[in-house]
Amino acid sequence: MIGIREYVETTRRLIGAPFPQMEEIYRHNYERIRGVLNWPGSFPELFISYSTNRTCEIVRLGDQHYLIYDQYLGSSLNFLNRVYLGSSRRDAIRFGYRILAEQLQLQNELKLALICAVAYSIWRPDSEIPAREPSFELRCRMTHVQEIYVVVHELFHFSLAGPGKNEVLAPFREMVRSYYREWLSDTVTPAEYEAEYRRKGLDRILSEEAIAADVKDAPAILGSLVEFLDSRDELVEEVACDLAAAFYTISIARAEGVPFRTCLLAILVGLHSLRCLSVLHDWSAARLKFDDAAAAQSTTEGAIRLMLTRKLMSQQLRSDGRTRIADWMHSDKVNARFQELILTPILYMLPQMVREVLEKADSVPTYPDAEANEMIDGLTAGPF
Ligand SMILES: [Zn+2]
Repeated sequence: MIGIREYVETTRRLIGAPFPQMEEIYRHNYERIRGVLNWPGSFPELFISYSTNRTCEIVRLGDQHYLIYDQYLGSSLNFLNRVYLGSSRRDAIRFGYRILAEQLQLQNELKLALICAVAYSIWRPDSEIPAREPSFELRCRMTHVQEIYVVVHELFHFSLAGPGKNEVLAPFREMVRSYYREWLSDTVTPAEYEAEYRRKGLDRILSEEAIAADVKDAPAILGSLVEFLDSRDELVEEVACDLAAAFYTISIARAEGVPFRTCLLAILVGLHSLRCLSVLHDWSAARLKFDDAAAAQSTTEGAIRLMLTRKLMSQQLRSDGRTRIADWMHSDKVNARFQELILTPILYMLPQMVREVLEKADSVPTYPDAEANEMIDGLTAGPF
């Protein structure tokens, strides 16, 4: 049987060793998470990697479960926090090119990866990015909260997978279902809306644009959401894990003195960022064919998860009497800023740019694999 180190080395493209200082922090965080969750029975052992796979996952090797956390995921979230807090659209686009290059390289699509790596390297930032910008402290806190969130989310999947634990969490799953049913039942679904959404089709209604519209004015969206969510058990599980992660993360971070609002901001921005990364991964898997159906589905699901988390958290805050912060949570400020600085450049501008780059890239020669990999590594090395 292979060990965890060997497993990680054979399934991931490592780009270095995790920083010892960070590893220590992650171990400390993990112990805190473990203490707060306080689950009976076995708990996955933590393993830290630093790879362009950038994923947090739980694997079982023999009798032991491991939670693999990737430091590069943290760096990626950290960079998007930086953009959110005061960088520019140019930086978001640069980031997008780099993620595409790395993901395509993982799939051994070396020619496409090289084209994106070159685009990344020549797409200069507006100005030199300072190591410590004015919002440095806030950014670090946000990243810290997001890293805890990602781990707790994964642990909740783990707990739902076990036979006994599933029962333990069944009421929780039911709570999520009843929450959104209750929320959705507040809005009528008149027959004409029903007819409308059947005519247009679910995809159209759940499109980015429709999701962004004020949900109160769109009973058709809500009606179709009920059907959509009920038909997709995995999505219900994602929502359950999102919410559990949000509430436990807040309690862990609050105990460390992170302000409530920072926790909420970090979680909202983090959910957006994770969604963005997953869309970039889907595009790479579809070899830069941007109309791929899988990418459309992940965009829709990401939007639903975000919307439900926001909704359910603000509901919870209101019932706890925290009206002001619930109002803030319900307002669209975070979404609008993320949309402006990150989503618009990455989800809408980048595909167009990549298409243009690809049109001009016919003359790019095909290099032997080793040489291409070396060039891609060189062009994408170092911090974002
Ligand atoms: Zn998940």
